[in-house]
Amino acid sequence: MTQTISPKPGVDRISLYVGGESHLDGREDVLKLSSNENPKGFPAAAGDALQKAATELHRYPSSDHIALRNAIAEVHDLDPERIICGAGSDEIIAFLCNAYGGAGTEVIHSRHGFAMHRISALAAGSEPVEVIERERTVDVDGILGAVNERTRLVFIANPANPTGTMLGDNEVTRLAEGLPEDVILVLDGAYAEFVDGHDGGAGLIERHPNVVMTRTFSKIYGLGGLRIGWGYGAKDIIDNLNRVRGPFNLSELQLAAATAAVQDTDWVETCRTENAMERARLTRALRDLGIAVDKSFANFVLARFANEETAGACEAQLRQDGILVRKVGSYGLPNCLRITVGTAPDNNRVIAAIKRWAR
Ligand SMILES: *Cc1c(COP(=O)(O)O)cnc(C)c1O
Repeated sequence: MTQTISPKPGVDRISLYVGGESHLDGREDVLKLSSNENPKGFPAAAGDALQKAATELHRYPSSDHIALRNAIAEVHDLDPERIICGAGSDEIIAFLCNAYGGAGTEVIHSRHGFAMHRISALAAGSEPVEVIERERTVDVDGILGAVNERTRLVFIANPANPTGTMLGDNEVTRLAEGLPEDVILVLDGAYAEFVDGHDGGAGLIERHPNVVMTRTFSKIYGLGGLRIGWGYGAKDIIDNLNRVRGPFNLSELQLAAATAAVQDTDWVETCRTENAMERARLTRALRDLGIAVDKSFANFVLARFANEETAGACEAQLRQDGILVRKVGSYGLPNCLRITVGTAPDNNRVIAAIKRWAR
């Protein structure tokens, strides 16, 4: 049968998002370090809240998410009226592209940036514009140089995935100040909690109404399986995102679990501290083996090999040892492997396996 119905332009240019692998045939002891998940799981209070909410599934969920927005606002000292919640921050990214993109518009993303920035731009009918990076770091001048009258959105993740690098506040401010007022700068803060004292851009938003921040419960809160994220920005932008949002986009299970999780500030503190220690140990061990690693600000490291073949050989050996890491060729980094920081025993296992391979 021939296809006679075409999707809108751009849809057929989307390469499907490929998630981290989680299974190896015939192995029970798989160590999954391929999706930047929290090795400690999620806060116990989130699980309790979810179980309690499960008795009320015949009820429609809240459509204004007010309890969750209030909890987020309280913990982060933000205005609840300017928070929007979604099924992962992926959905907030899609809302932004759907509300502000479309045919004839351009959306800027970074060369090694998160795949969903480009995918959501194409799905909305926008033209994605890729800007190269310098030393695997977002290039502010490159982005400013790519802006034209069709540009509507600029996406950067800070810290970035899969590189783990980060722009300092000065550079992010310079980017915000260099953009025209009618271009939205989206600061994807999926890993913001891993950086001590980092507000994800919340302060910048107060001075620049064209800056929006996205955040997630998938990483430090360990709730990737439940799909909860949120965004913060100027009231008129958030109002427009709510117009393209489905009224019941989050179930009561998601809302209850996230509301409990965000209030567990000790959890965030503990995970941030442990991650930083283990990340430093993993970075050192890899460098000691002659494998290049940029300083990472997130819960993973990017191991850089001499070439694609060497990276592939290391990945194949890890796989033999039951360890799954992420190949990042589709991110323009074919000579690299992204390794999620696990628990101390997890990291011992991956370090030992790479040592055996290196010999
Ligand atoms: C993991 C990740 C997300 C989070 O996506 P969710 O939809 O919230 O699970 C967003 N941006 C980046 C850069 C990520 O790495």
